[in-house]
Amino acid sequence: MNRKDFIKASIGLPLLSMNLQEFEKEVIGDHFAEAMMPLLFVGHGSPMNAIEDNAFSRSWAKLGNELSVPKAILCVSAHWQTRGTKVTAMEQPKTIHDFGGFPKALFDVQYPAPGSPQYAQLTMSQFRAGHISKDFEWGLDHGTWSVLKPMFPKANIPTFQLSLDYTATPQQHVEIAKHLMNMRKKGVLIIGSGNIVHNLGLLNFEGKPFDWATEFDELAKTKILNNDLKTLTDYKNLGKAASLSIPTNEHYLPLLYILALKQKQENTSFFNESIEMGSVSMRSLKIS
Ligand code: ZN
Repeated sequence: MNRKDFIKASIGLPLLSMNLQEFEKEVIGDHFAEAMMPLLFVGHGSPMNAIEDNAFSRSWAKLGNELSVPKAILCVSAHWQTRGTKVTAMEQPKTIHDFGGFPKALFDVQYPAPGSPQYAQLTMSQFRAGHISKDFEWGLDHGTWSVLKPMFPKANIPTFQLSLDYTATPQQHVEIAKHLMNMRKKGVLIIGSGNIVHNLGLLNFEGKPFDWATEFDELAKTKILNNDLKTLTDYKNLGKAASLSIPTNEHYLPLLYILALKQKQENTSFFNESIEMGSVSMRSLKIS
């Protein structure tokens, strides 16, 4: 059996029969050895953005057209919190409709992207043993698919998720994130999906942003541009605007994952710089 047949046969065998070295060589190749994939933090906002033709969904579609096609997508979503860090490792993740009160059309949405047990294994290998575990139960929650559906509508790119450990401090999340650096060199587009300002307890349906929401969103912008990850990680000491903007931190933490992976020489560009319903900042960024 020649090498190619071996690889072909291996893909058909049970999970992870192809060892990681083979996988890296044959599937990933060295195309990305020099260049790192960009990083995205996406303010996802309402799940309806998945099916509405609006400024947000159009910006995601545009990005999907501009980016070089990733080998895989790793999403750190606000909507998957677990004890300890987990990575989805199933062949075919299910589409999770983790919300209520939306039209049937949204519940009908499927995003049938394949998973990637091999990329999950590669992610595992970046951590010390016992610091991350595989998950076969979750799938793709709306933090992931609501953005990816407009961005990569063909749903043909292997997609997997990393959970947020709800026992970790913000600083620990930054340390966890740094383990993912190598994945950028292996063709993986890492996306953090959340919202920098996210307070659903204080919505303003007339739409005007609350002053504190604007204040914190602007502050975050400045700190991001100054590469001041330390201050952004220490958000609990940033005063009242920060505490109103981050009443719980699950939508904010994905931002820290993305900033922790930024290299000094890389540039940050913002998109969707608006605040919806008074208290949901859609500010998004691309680092490349
Ligand atoms: Zn959300």
